[in-house]
Amino acid sequence: MSTVSALLRSDLRDFAGYRSARSDTLDGEIWLNANESPWANAGVPGIDLRRYPSPQPDNLRDALARLYNVTPAQILLGRGSDEGIDLLLRAFCMPGRDRIVIAPPVFGMYAVCARLHAAEVIDVPLIDGPTGLNADVDGMVDAALAQNARFLFLCSPGNPSGEALTMAAIAAAAVRLRGRAIVVVDEAYAEFSDKASATGLLAAHDNLAVLRTLSKAHALAAARIGCVIGSVEMIGALRRCQAPYPVPQPCVDAACDALSVSALAVTRERVREICSERTRVAQAMAGLPGVRRVYDSQGNFLLVRFDDAGAAFHRLLQAGVVVRDMRTQPQLGDALRITIGSADQNARMLAALTGPTAVAA
Ligand code: PMP
Repeated sequence: MSTVSALLRSDLRDFAGYRSARSDTLDGEIWLNANESPWANAGVPGIDLRRYPSPQPDNLRDALARLYNVTPAQILLGRGSDEGIDLLLRAFCMPGRDRIVIAPPVFGMYAVCARLHAAEVIDVPLIDGPTGLNADVDGMVDAALAQNARFLFLCSPGNPSGEALTMAAIAAAAVRLRGRAIVVVDEAYAEFSDKASATGLLAAHDNLAVLRTLSKAHALAAARIGCVIGSVEMIGALRRCQAPYPVPQPCVDAACDALSVSALAVTRERVREICSERTRVAQAMAGLPGVRRVYDSQGNFLLVRFDDAGAAFHRLLQAGVVVRDMRTQPQLGDALRITIGSADQNARMLAALTGPTAVAA
């Protein structure tokens, strides 16, 4: 048994999942096997949606495999990386018994999915120091080993910390947890980072899973396309826990178009633009009165501490600029997270923070 099979939920080891009509490798001209309609919908001209989509469409899987430099069989397509997080918990955590380790403040879905799945969450907080808000990866591994956790969730670049982890730190965690736990590296913002992707470690570590998404750099958040990248065996286990037809056909088509050579060239140019705006906005913000700290960021956002974050939030809102209020998050009682927009949007945001205070009505 591989080290990953040993980590599967013991009650699901012989579970085959749902077998849909679409997953049978049959061919024909008249399809009467899935209770679909013989006609396209009259109210949706020009688009024929009457057939269920492929459960894991080859064209999109192949395109993502090329993009991420892995094989198609290492990819599980799903409704955003959110679904990947949920599936990992479902496949590997026994409800009411298993645990996950996270480093708050961090993206909320790890804890939400764990809660819904009755998995206990072990917090190993980020450490706030001169280099930023940093994950204590060794401390997370220690906690996972001591409390027999199934997962270590690493967010790199971190949302909201902006920190990107080194390959060496991720590899060291995978080695220490081999056969004991799975290291999940959430790379939702990887395109904006200068650090290498953890996909480069997959060949050497079967207890590693990488989450990627088209929602951020690729500008397809509404299409809900993300994937889990892992060992072929892990992907098979996740697929058995997934809904029969997870990715809608119009979204698959849009994603394939977004991964054409010409679209990718534009995406790369836009990523470069966001990264240069990030430097410019960080410098401008650091010089503003009332700004305590602007963290370095490898994502498409800045985490900023203010003397009065509430006032800054409302001032921005009055100017029509909506940012993320982080004040309820641990360690972030004075912080906002500000997405890097276009140069015009960033200029408006900075102007709202520098301009004269609006008179209260
Ligand atoms: N991971 C991180 C770190 C995120 O910030 C987000 C979205 N905010 C997601 C995953 C979810 O992305 P998706 O749209 O792919 O579900």
